[in-house]
Amino acid sequence: MAKFVGYRCSLCQIEYAPGEVTYTCPRDGGNLDVALDYEAIKNKYQPEDILSRTDPSLWRYRPLLPVTLPDGEATPLHAAGGTPTYRLTTLAGPYRLRNVWLKDESRNPTASFKDRASAIVVARAREIKADVVVTASTGNAGAALAGMSAAVGQKAVIFAPKSAPAAKVAQLLVFGAKVILVDGTYDDAFDLTIQCADEFGWYCRNTGYNPFTAEGKKTAAFEIWEWWRGAHREFHKRIGEETDHKPLTVFVPVGDGNIISGIHKGFKDLMQLGWMARMPRIIGVQAEGSAAIANAFHGNTETITPVSASTLADSISVDLPRDGVRAIRAAKETGGTYITVSDEEILEAIAELGKVGVFAEPAGAAAYAGLVKGAGLGVVGGEDPILVLNTGSGLKDVGAAMRAVAEAPIIEPALEVVKKIL
Ligand SMILES: *Cc1c(COP(=O)(O)O)cnc(C)c1O
Ligand SMILES: [Zn+2]
Repeated sequence: MAKFVGYRCSLCQIEYAPGEVTYTCPRDGGNLDVALDYEAIKNKYQPEDILSRTDPSLWRYRPLLPVTLPDGEATPLHAAGGTPTYRLTTLAGPYRLRNVWLKDESRNPTASFKDRASAIVVARAREIKADVVVTASTGNAGAALAGMSAAVGQKAVIFAPKSAPAAKVAQLLVFGAKVILVDGTYDDAFDLTIQCADEFGWYCRNTGYNPFTAEGKKTAAFEIWEWWRGAHREFHKRIGEETDHKPLTVFVPVGDGNIISGIHKGFKDLMQLGWMARMPRIIGVQAEGSAAIANAFHGNTETITPVSASTLADSISVDLPRDGVRAIRAAKETGGTYITVSDEEILEAIAELGKVGVFAEPAGAAAYAGLVKGAGLGVVGGEDPILVLNTGSGLKDVGAAMRAVAEAPIIEPALEVVKKIL
C-alpha cells in the first residue's frame, strides 16, 4: 500500500491529514484529492516491479493505492479491473480512423467500470471498520458496491431512482443489499443518501463525494499506461516514427465526472513518479440532455450550472455533476475537450459496437458516439492513436438495446416462410 499522507482540496488547495476529514472540503465543499507520498513510492518501486506482477486485477497496483486489500481469496472484490483492450480494425466509420482501440469495462465482475471504485471503497470501509456502506446510484455504482460488499460480508444500503433499468435493480437485489428506490431523480437519491449517512453513521460511497472512488477509477489509467507501453511500439512500426508527436487520445463518457477525473488522477500519479513520458489527451463525452460539465467547459468557467437532465443513457443522467471541476480540468489540462452526443447518436453507437462484438449500455456507447462526432469535427484525425472506453454492459439495459436495432421477424416454423423473408 502506498503511503497515504492525506487530502488536498481541489478548490482551495488546503491539505488535510487522513483523520481530519472524510468526504469533501469543510471550507468550500470542494472534491478532495488523495495525496500519496510519491518520493517514498519512487524510492521503493520501479515500473518493472508492477509490470512483472502476475495478478491481472487492479490490485497489481497496490503500491500506488491508498488502501490495503481485505483478506479472502478469489472473490469478485479481488477480480475488479484487468479489462481487455481490442483494436477496432473494421470500425473506421466514415472518417477512416485507423488506430482505434476499445477498453471494455463491461468485463468487470458486476459488468461496469464502477467496480473499480467500489473495490477500493469497500477496502477502505474494512480498514475504518465501517458497519454499513451506503451509496446513491443510477444503478451501476450500487450494483458494484452491493457485489463487492457481498463478497466480503459487508453490509450495504443502496438508494436508486425508481426509474433505474430493471436489470440494474435485479442485480442490487440479488447481491443482497438493502435496496431503496426513490420516487425522484438520481440527484434526489444523492442528497438523501448523505442525510442518511450523517444520521445513521454509515460510510458513504457517493460518487464525487467520497475521495476514494477516484483512487479506484485511476487504476484504469494505470492499465492504459501498461497497455500503451506495448501497443505504441506496434503502432510506430505500422505508422512510422513521424507520428511520434501524436499523443494517445482517450474518450471517456461523463456523468458526475468522477471516471474522467479518476483517470486524470491516475495519469498524474504516473507523471509525478516519472513513469510516463507523456500525458494522454482526455476527451469527455456527455449526453446533450445532461451536459452540465460540457456547458461549463465550453463557457470557459469552472462554475457548474445544473441542468434538468434528460437522456436515455441513465448512467450519465445527472442534474448537478458532483465532480465537475476536476472533470473540466481533466480535459483542459491535457489538451482535450468535451463533446456532446444525442440519444440517437448513442443508439447508433450501440448498433455499431455490436457489429464488432461489443455490447454496450447507452452510457458506455456514448464514448464511441463522441469519437464518431469528434472525428467529424476534426478533434481527432486519421492516424491519431485513440482509446475509447466502454464503461458498461448492454445487458444492463436491454430496453435501450432493443431500440438500437430492428426487430426480429416472428414466423411460422416452415422452410417456405424462411425462403420468403431471407
Ligand atoms: C457511472 C457511469 C458513467 C459515468 O461516470 P461518472 O463518474 O458519473 O462521470 C459512465 N458510464 C457508465 C456505464 C457508468 O456506470
Ligand atoms: Zn477547499
